[in-house]
Amino acid sequence: MSFLWEDKIRVVEPYTPGEQPQKNNVIKLNTNENPYGPSDEIKKIINNLSADDFRKYPDPTSESLVSELAAFHNVDKSRVFVGVGSDDVLAVSFLTFFNSDKPILFADITYSFYPVWADLFKVPYKVCKLDDDFRIKTEDYLTDNGGVIIANPNAPTGIYFDKSEIIKILEYNKSSIVIIDEAYIDFAEDGSSCIDLIDRYDNLLITRTFSKSRSLAGLRIGYAIGNEALIKYMNDVKYSFNSYTMNYAALTLGSAVIKDNDYFENVISKIKATRERFSQELQDRGFKVLPSSTNFVFACHEKYSAEEIFNAAKKKQIYFRFFKQSRIDNFLRITIGKDEEMDEVIRFLDSYIK
Ligand SMILES: *Cc1c(COP(=O)(O)O)cnc(C)c1O
Repeated sequence: MSFLWEDKIRVVEPYTPGEQPQKNNVIKLNTNENPYGPSDEIKKIINNLSADDFRKYPDPTSESLVSELAAFHNVDKSRVFVGVGSDDVLAVSFLTFFNSDKPILFADITYSFYPVWADLFKVPYKVCKLDDDFRIKTEDYLTDNGGVIIANPNAPTGIYFDKSEIIKILEYNKSSIVIIDEAYIDFAEDGSSCIDLIDRYDNLLITRTFSKSRSLAGLRIGYAIGNEALIKYMNDVKYSFNSYTMNYAALTLGSAVIKDNDYFENVISKIKATRERFSQELQDRGFKVLPSSTNFVFACHEKYSAEEIFNAAKKKQIYFRFFKQSRIDNFLRITIGKDEEMDEVIRFLDSYIK
């Protein structure tokens, strides 16, 4: 230890976000952003934001955005919580719901922020190993615990976990909170979300984000849907920490984006079509591609190491995500960009993979 006070402070191992290269002309497929910007409608609203409204504190209840989300999901407003990206929403839910001596459960290969929050808030946890095909084993979650968090579809694998299996987990865990992180659900099949289960399960919390499917990663908006008792407990924690989480621009644009549904659906179907085409192109070139229900693919090559391809791509200004973590350190996570970007990736792979 280098300082006398170090044993009294909180020292944590932070999450490492994907690189955000601050230059143009890169093909950036490393953080699952949406390649299609917000619609012209939204651009107009951005240009018309009122400077005077930045002078005032924003509405601490985020009423406009909460109402819009409640209407969109056909739930009561008391069942919606909003935050600064779903990272904020998830951090608040960890702090609120995971406060037991029993370990919370999550997969060994999933969103790598979960163990970071658990450590930060001193929540004990147990990782449950996915099977050899990177699928969740339901029985791992049918055991005494302090809570459960599952990303569905999962990241970085892209794999969707069947709703009927989630129901088994919810049934077993009626005395702990089960969080389903649906950051990528808009890219999965229709009807795959668990939102419609909140009436049946008061222990279920769903989290969502505007960062991927809604093209607004830079604005930082996320939300949770669940029983009103869960939302109240989350708000109590939020107001004990920071009342004004959502800024004026996020509230104004967030509400408008939810109404902009045609554009949203059009973007989703374009990305899904590109995903299918690109997955096939990868397979044709010797990649194994996990079945993706997201806006990225997780792939490994039979001959070339992922780290090698990752570094060679970066030299060509093509950014993928690579995780130096056991079991997945030969996989690349590649965000689905525009068709022309994916064509550029294929040209790069053809020059590299002989
Ligand atoms: C991207 C992501 C999030 C966080 O998204 P925000 O930008 O903070 O809304 C949460 N969970 C998973 C699994 C993600 O991939």
